[in-house]
Amino acid sequence: MSDSNSLAPAAMNVNVAVLLVAAGRGSRAGGPDAGGPKQYRALAGKPVLRHTVEAFLHHPVVTRIVTVIHPDDADLAAACLADVAAGRALPPVTGGRTRQESVRRGLEALAGDPPDLVLVHDGVRPFVTGGTIDACVDALGRHEAVVVGVPVVDTVKRTGPDGRILETVPREGLWRAATPQGFRFATILDAHRRAAAAGVSDLTDDGAVAEWAGHAVHMVACDEGNTKLTTQSDFAAAEARLTAETFLRLPDVRVGVGYDVHRFEEGDAVVLGGVTIPHSHKLNGHSDADVALHALVDAILGAIGDGDIGQHFPPSDPRWRGAASTLFLEDAVRRVRERGGIVAHCDIAILAEAPKVGPHRDAMRAIIAGVCGIPVERVGVKATTNEKMGFVGRREGIAAMATATVRLPVAP
Ligand code: MG
Repeated sequence: MSDSNSLAPAAMNVNVAVLLVAAGRGSRAGGPDAGGPKQYRALAGKPVLRHTVEAFLHHPVVTRIVTVIHPDDADLAAACLADVAAGRALPPVTGGRTRQESVRRGLEALAGDPPDLVLVHDGVRPFVTGGTIDACVDALGRHEAVVVGVPVVDTVKRTGPDGRILETVPREGLWRAATPQGFRFATILDAHRRAAAAGVSDLTDDGAVAEWAGHAVHMVACDEGNTKLTTQSDFAAAEARLTAETFLRLPDVRVGVGYDVHRFEEGDAVVLGGVTIPHSHKLNGHSDADVALHALVDAILGAIGDGDIGQHFPPSDPRWRGAASTLFLEDAVRRVRERGGIVAHCDIAILAEAPKVGPHRDAMRAIIAGVCGIPVERVGVKATTNEKMGFVGRREGIAAMATATVRLPVAP
């Protein structure tokens, strides 16, 4: 194309890279005590950053994603980005002391094989839509730098240190800047390099870096939902929003029931709900004999009408000798996901005179919630004795009952 001002990024052959900024420490959302850096905090069973990565991967125009991370977060990032579509997600880049420096490092990582356009986006804005990405890319056909945002609709006041209003700021032409911020790659790389060489290091967004370098930067409207998750209440609202969206998409609610029993034999520990509990006996069985998870697996399989645990994992198969029953649970959850559904809730009742389950209840719930990919609040584990009646009462074994609620899409 001869005219460099009409890059026409909507054309199929334009190469659009995404640079995700995820190098912050996120203390405002509660810091490490509240579950680690907020970009890795679980939202609807997945790290926030993973949601953000997937939002861009689902968009056909994006060819590559590079994520800039904090030097302490290499393991978190590896776990979060494992099995992300190979080829399109590049290895993470370590960020710098400031946001500006982090972005520059990410741009340098792309410079060896430069894209035509780059979209710089906050790792903690998981709700970016395809429409916003389109608007940003389309605007780059007319402009060399664009920032998405929302026009200010509230009346804006400026106050002094004592809270007294000094003026009412005219809101005409005022925007709240968000991300993505899109640039012709060569433009923003050059601007960042010049700013760094000039010792300017504290610009808080890339639009400001482009402005500093003398480029015209244009605002593009995005939807109000493209929020940045900063505080605990942002996380709570995001969780509620994702849960509601998921549930609306999956209106076919099924409840399955499962029951299992295993006999005691000589040993020193039982495995219940994925937790090994020291005891005077062990449970007899081909696998780890986790009676609670076996009941739950059957409940999930029942909800999707897909046989039972014995059919999928026959005791005659030597592969399952001593196997951890979490493997069976993972398989049942996979079968639900293959149908486009989710396990929405599990409840287990363990019938045993001993050992005591109470001290291990939360550990079991955490394991089950982790495998099912749901908040721990959606997993119930209870136990009761059998009042010394029957085989459970005579301490001959342990029984378990479970229900699983599964949500599926309505078949087309
Ligand atoms: Mg069993």
